[in-house]
Amino acid sequence: MISDKFVVEGLPPLVPIPDQSVGEIIYRSLISSKKEEAALIDSSTDNSITYSQLLTKSCSLAQALSRSGYGSNSTIAICSKNSLEYFVPVIASLYIGATVATINSSSTCKELLHITSLTKPEIIFCQKDLLNNFLKIKEKVRCIQKLIVLDGDYTKELIGKNNESPVERYTPTSVNENETAFILCSSGTTGLPKGVMLSHKNVNGVITHFRDPRIHDQNPITYCAVPFFHAYGLFLVLADLVQHSSTIFSPLFDAELLLKSTQNYKVTRLMLVPPIIVILTKCLDNFRYDLSSLKEVFSSAAPLNKRTEEAFKNKLRSAVIRQGYGLTEVTHCLMFNGIENSPPKYGSAGRVLPFLKVVVKDIETGKFVGPYGRGEICIKGDTVMKGYLNNPEANRASFTEDGWYRTGDVGYYDDDGYFFITDRMKDLIKYKGFQVAPVEVEAVLLTHPDIIDAAVIGIPNELAGELPLAFVVKSKTSQISAKDVQDFVKGQLSPQKWLRGGVVFVEAIAKNQSGKILRKKLRDIFKNYMSKL
Ligand code: AMP
Repeated sequence: MISDKFVVEGLPPLVPIPDQSVGEIIYRSLISSKKEEAALIDSSTDNSITYSQLLTKSCSLAQALSRSGYGSNSTIAICSKNSLEYFVPVIASLYIGATVATINSSSTCKELLHITSLTKPEIIFCQKDLLNNFLKIKEKVRCIQKLIVLDGDYTKELIGKNNESPVERYTPTSVNENETAFILCSSGTTGLPKGVMLSHKNVNGVITHFRDPRIHDQNPITYCAVPFFHAYGLFLVLADLVQHSSTIFSPLFDAELLLKSTQNYKVTRLMLVPPIIVILTKCLDNFRYDLSSLKEVFSSAAPLNKRTEEAFKNKLRSAVIRQGYGLTEVTHCLMFNGIENSPPKYGSAGRVLPFLKVVVKDIETGKFVGPYGRGEICIKGDTVMKGYLNNPEANRASFTEDGWYRTGDVGYYDDDGYFFITDRMKDLIKYKGFQVAPVEVEAVLLTHPDIIDAAVIGIPNELAGELPLAFVVKSKTSQISAKDVQDFVKGQLSPQKWLRGGVVFVEAIAKNQSGKILRKKLRDIFKNYMSKL
């Protein structure tokens, strides 16, 4: 049992989490919106989708899906870069009570095969240039029944005609709050990417955070510079839709476009990751855009270095920089800096949000510790995932016996309840905020005929946060170069997993007696090696 004095309780909630399906909440919100207002704006073209269009399209698609036999037992996947159409299948699937799986559009065929075999979607909505890859996957993953190009005429494709019935008469399916609404991908503390099951209650908890005026501005105009497939972008947009506000995005990150859009659309909040903040800090002086509408800049998905935060703040002057700390396994951010109008503390990930509580567990002693004591951050609460899909072993390892989710992140809190994330003890590399599971890259390396053993670690990098680097043991007669190894990985894994940190050939990989790679030791070897250069 944990003594109460070691539990950091989240802000007391203002309202409870609504007991409805996410689909019902979104439908009610779209139907009561100012219909001609833009729901999403693509800043690369200035095209938009209005609330009215989103409502009509999503209701029409939902009816076509239902008529084609899909419903609450179905899983529907979406694989696309950020686009105006992205949320049409997401919302339609939620209306019919189906589970939505979002997939990174830069995935290679190998990765798509892993993810679709895991999540077993019956339909996949994908961007046009991914169709050929998915046709190959469909031959291997038998559950996939239909592939639908995202910007085509979906309804016609499904039921052979357009669906004209009035949106007011549509009724979304009610679903129990504990049913799975989304499956997102995360490798967690170790191993290959897994399917994170997020319930309707989990997602509604995040929407309720966004609707809490102590945590978030209630009339935002958001620029979302993060991908929609990731929890950070996905649930931000759903929350923005519930708040009837506009989200501006671009399919690919472009610093000038972001600044220009901030001026032209009078953006009030930027949703960023630390590497983008580094880029903006470097290039802000090169452009002359009016950023006076900006009130807040959010940073999450990776650590925001205190110096970077201060440097960016000095350039921006008026806007507040608010770091948040989140995980896919906790649906979104579980803490934010600058809540209740308190000035943010530099370097802090902030205070715990409603419906959640946090403890810090000393790594050596396993005991729970108080203010300033360092240890693993463990979480309980309504936005903590249901668990990993079909993976009892990972579920057992990720939760303590009394139900605390073990984040694998290390940190402490101060006397005011502000958290500071100081380290990561789990096997995870973050390249520009994207997850890289070392085991996944190692598994690819070990398929190379000349590679006997391999281990991958993240090395610090100012721009990307971390870069994946491989230690490789090659066979005695092998002539392979570091570039050969890098190209081998490039051919099979998506760009965030490429070995941009380099390849170091070694005689043996440091392991413990049971064969576990000693990554900390490898990081020390690398530091030592760098200091001698
Ligand atoms: P993801 O599930 O992709 O959002 O990755 C979650 C992981 O990103 C966390 O477990 C942390 O390791 C890292 N992370 C997210 N936000 C922060 C933050 N503010 N500071 C430090 N690490 C962070």
